[in-house]
Amino acid sequence: LVRLRARLARSQNSLGKGLLTLLSREHLDEDTWEEIEETLLIADVGVVPTQELVDRLRDRVKVLGTRTPADLRALLKEELLTLVGTDFDRAVKTEGGADTPGVVMVVGVNGTGKTTTTGKLARVLVADGRSVVLGAADTFRAAAADQLQTWGDRVGARTVRGPEGGDPASIAYDAVKEGIAEGADVVLIDTAGRLHTKTGLMDELGKVKRVVEKHGPLDEVLLVLDATTGQNGLTQARVFAEVVDITGIVLTKLDGTAKGGIVVAVQRELGVPVKLIGLGEGADDLAPFEPEAFVDALIG
Ligand code: GDP
Repeated sequence: LVRLRARLARSQNSLGKGLLTLLSREHLDEDTWEEIEETLLIADVGVVPTQELVDRLRDRVKVLGTRTPADLRALLKEELLTLVGTDFDRAVKTEGGADTPGVVMVVGVNGTGKTTTTGKLARVLVADGRSVVLGAADTFRAAAADQLQTWGDRVGARTVRGPEGGDPASIAYDAVKEGIAEGADVVLIDTAGRLHTKTGLMDELGKVKRVVEKHGPLDEVLLVLDATTGQNGLTQARVFAEVVDITGIVLTKLDGTAKGGIVVAVQRELGVPVKLIGLGEGADDLAPFEPEAFVDALIG
């Protein structure tokens, strides 16, 4: 965890540090407030949340007697925490039904890190003593099933797969069936993420969801977004939210960007919390999203 925090801090702290430096200026003139606004926008916080934060910072700085670095740090931390949101339930749910495993569907555009996230999540669950079955329902990308199976073999989870180009829904169905037969605790389903035809995607994801629910409850639909894609990621989020009920967001590649503000923007957009973050390509590089640690990393 310490290592993850360090990695997050390395790529993120330009935002918080930049804000602190600006707020510490002797004269907080209009130019400075504009720079503060720009800093937030560049970090992908989004227009509305940026405006809200700037308004609140203005009000609060006005009534602040002294502006010591400690005062400003505390104030900024509090306001960033409010912005990120501390009252979301960010746990990934995997309870399942009375006789059925927990089922988690992982969706997102190809290349965002869906398969990697599914593998990493399997690893976390297995390390937690849960038995996991993987469903390789991304039949669109040729190597996806192999990639998922490699993860499965590595962490000790059976991978259910079908023929290349096969029907994702039938693989998802089989994966949950296998999970039930094995008495597994959790089934994770990796799906395909082609975006060019929205109706195609809608049909496919909707069908996967429906057949999975024939077996029992679906616990989570996690949307994987690449944090480095900025506003593009938001557009993707919107499209997916239209076709399937997203219950949580996984932001990947936060190790490679200083644009951590996307956490705020995407939560606002979808009204669902960021639950997990990806901080690298390695097996251990998936972490629960903890607002306090995140904000600490932002401020540096
Ligand atoms: P998919 O097409 O959505 O299933 O994407 P993949 O899981 O194949 O991931 C695409 C690429 O992103 C791979 O090279 C992954 O190793 C890489 N990747 C995934 N998550 C992360 C992350 O959190 N950080 C970094 N730096 N790379 C990641």
